[in-house]
Amino acid sequence: MRSLPFLLLLTFSSFAQDLPGFTPLSTAKERAVEQKFDASLRRDELRDWLRRLSARPHHLGSNYDRENAEFLASLFKSWGYETTIETFDVLFPVPKTRVVEMLSPEKYTLKLAEPPLSQDATSGQTSEQLPSFNAYSTDGDVTSELVYVNYGIPADYEELAKHGVDVKGKIVIARYGNSWRGIKPKVAAEHGAVGCLIYSDPRDDGYFAGDVYPNGPFRNESGVQRGSVADMPLYPGDPLTPGVGATAEAKRLDRKDVQTITKIPVLPISYSDALPLLRALAGPVAPSDWRGALPITYHLGPGPARVHMNLEFDWKLVPARDVIARLPGSDRASEWVMRGNHHDAWVNGAMDPLSGLVAELAEARAIGELAKSGWRPRRTIVFAAWDGEEEGLLGSTEWVETHQEELKKHLVLYTNSDSYARGFLDAGGSHTLERFITQVARDVVDPEKNVSVFDRLRAHDVMNAKTAEERKEVLERTAIRLDALGSGSDYTPFLQHAGIPSLSMGYSGEGEGGSYHSIYDSFDHFTRFRDPSFDYGVLQAKTTGRITLRMANADLLPFDFTTMAATLGRYSEEVIHLAETMRKATDEKNRLLNERVMEIAADPTKPFVAPAAETPVPFLDFASLQNATAHLKKSADEFAKAYAVALNTAAPRGAAIDEALMQAELSLTRGEGLPRRPWYRHQIYAPGFYTGYGVKTLPAIREAIEQRNWREANEQIAVVAKVIDGYAAAIDRAAIVAKGE
Ligand SMILES: [Zn+2]
Repeated sequence: MRSLPFLLLLTFSSFAQDLPGFTPLSTAKERAVEQKFDASLRRDELRDWLRRLSARPHHLGSNYDRENAEFLASLFKSWGYETTIETFDVLFPVPKTRVVEMLSPEKYTLKLAEPPLSQDATSGQTSEQLPSFNAYSTDGDVTSELVYVNYGIPADYEELAKHGVDVKGKIVIARYGNSWRGIKPKVAAEHGAVGCLIYSDPRDDGYFAGDVYPNGPFRNESGVQRGSVADMPLYPGDPLTPGVGATAEAKRLDRKDVQTITKIPVLPISYSDALPLLRALAGPVAPSDWRGALPITYHLGPGPARVHMNLEFDWKLVPARDVIARLPGSDRASEWVMRGNHHDAWVNGAMDPLSGLVAELAEARAIGELAKSGWRPRRTIVFAAWDGEEEGLLGSTEWVETHQEELKKHLVLYTNSDSYARGFLDAGGSHTLERFITQVARDVVDPEKNVSVFDRLRAHDVMNAKTAEERKEVLERTAIRLDALGSGSDYTPFLQHAGIPSLSMGYSGEGEGGSYHSIYDSFDHFTRFRDPSFDYGVLQAKTTGRITLRMANADLLPFDFTTMAATLGRYSEEVIHLAETMRKATDEKNRLLNERVMEIAADPTKPFVAPAAETPVPFLDFASLQNATAHLKKSADEFAKAYAVALNTAAPRGAAIDEALMQAELSLTRGEGLPRRPWYRHQIYAPGFYTGYGVKTLPAIREAIEQRNWREANEQIAVVAKVIDGYAAAIDRAAIVAKGE
């Protein structure tokens, strides 16, 4: 028995059904093309490319990064693509000085080094490896007492305040996790800290999670997570050229005027380097959920550990090389369907990003093969391999900023990938594409369980449901739920700046480990622990290949506004509920303060500072938002009827209908962007200002409520309602085009 019996009940074939956006005749043709596509995917090819591309460290600006870009371009050319390398000049600081030492109560100089391992063939390429550091930390030489701040998110500082601990003038040590890393130095600086260390605690990322490398896949005591700490929720890309491409002639900011470089020096360290520092802390014992898995009692400090950190960077411009490859379409060549994955890594980067990239290469070669046999996609297909993603989506952002006007005219979809692992479909993106992705997920088969990836994901979600109600909801689900996209990879400039419908596709959940952004993310690690057979690499290519081919060949763009309308209805319920919950919580907290409950319950031998009372939460006026989502639902239902008729009767109007569909999607952006961050124009999805990668849906409203900015909340409810009304009106116009009126 390979599968659980109840899966048979869950499975129902929809194979006879037409594909979204296709007539019955073109569905049959498309399925035949996809069969040929699948047949030309080869696992050994993925393995060979992975070995070649990860053979040496290939970070932004390095020799091997250039060699890889040229190698990728030569591959795309050999498969028949019109290929160019587009180069931008971007700011990339690398360390000149990295010193961290504990001065008292004992002396300890941090090693700041990841040693080579005999079991890992590329780990000894020391002269080419970037040292462990956080990109866009400011220079700084500071000495102070140390404070442990848990994950270093805003709630952690509220907790510290209750214990009477202030970080003003101190150096903080935070553990990785629970937020994007750039949030930690940002929040630390807002609270007056002068320096920030970030370490990987073995509870989250190390021996508590599983056996460590090289015995197992998890992070060993010397492993360090590199990564960018630029304030990406403000804007990603080259810090010197916000909003415009970093071409040779671009006007650049003075470095002292750049808002996205950290205000205080920050450095990542391993848990073997963190242990002596944390062990030397005294002061209150850390709350129980702040304790990691090091063999110590976790204290908050401040001190007596006194730490000196000195960081100095070489602030140079380096070339970022994007590889762009085009296959022109036949009758709708002016509509582009785009695929992308980055090619740069922190070090050798076998998993991140090369696993995703070799699957993209397999997809591109198979499509090139089809084209050589005389087949043409209806729409133009564009493949991209981005540079400088790791430092802050540099290559993709500069490319989108340079080409945004033509992208708004031509680009109908951007599909991103990055690392993948074995496991379950991991799909996020624009909610007009849920039905489209659901069909793809029903049509590709999981190599481990021999059921569709749709069924495998559903089984996973059923087993992980937390309540009976949730379990029932998943069991009855007939469509994939796309995750809303925050940030963390190259879809961000496409979706959140240019407003292009976008997807992020991968597999995850099995074959996890702790090689992320270390020298141990290598070919050896990947082929031992991540996807030894490359079966999931082939599955990844089949999945994204279907997305590209179907979007390129459909008779009409397969956009479905009814799922977007339902999703926006849910989001608007969520923000209403959020305000309600905060009102109750505030009333309760103020009552406890009034009655001195916290103070009376507290242990008098330990420091306790009662928090300040909060202003009560007023009632907000959500009527305009509720009316707009109701209007949208009507428009979406009306359009769906017109679309179904047009699909089989309106072939000559196809391009005009596509154009109207695209215009509708673009109307979800505002030129002014979000409050205080104009680069982020999408009004439905954004990375959180205080969560980083984590998404905030209806961000302008949600974050105003979370920040207790009631006036702005009321203003933004009206603004977003107007955007949704505009979206509904654009869908109404598309319906008129579809009906041919
Ligand atoms: Zn990546």
